[in-house]
Amino acid sequence: METDSSRRNFLVAGLSLPVAGLASTPAYQASQAPTARVDEEIRPYYCRMCHQCSGQRPKDVPVPETIRYLAYADFYGQFALGRERFLALPEEARALRCGDCASCAVRCPNGVHVSERLAGAQSLFA
Ligand code: SF4
Repeated sequence: METDSSRRNFLVAGLSLPVAGLASTPAYQASQAPTARVDEEIRPYYCRMCHQCSGQRPKDVPVPETIRYLAYADFYGQFALGRERFLALPEEARALRCGDCASCAVRCPNGVHVSERLAGAQSLFA
């Protein structure tokens, strides 16, 4: 099922970070079940900026940055900021289109649908 952008926006806004010292308590772990479910729902869309994909790019596509700029528009309603940042990327990075590659070489260990998100940013901001 496709998650629409309004719901993703709501889900991302509701994510919480663990409080130091509480992460191992049963009460805390029980409270995180909804968060884990939300995390799974947004996983294909939300880049964690871990940069584990950085060495996989056959062309010099700034993967995490581009996906983050799309998130500004998708999750936070900040289209102008996302487009401004996208347009500040080097010209050769902006000129690339995910359709230029036969298949995507980037495998995100966090489950982000990289080529889909890059194509979305390229389509929305270019
Ligand atoms: S796309 Fe995946 S591997 Fe690359 S920085 Fe984002 S979360 Fe990490």
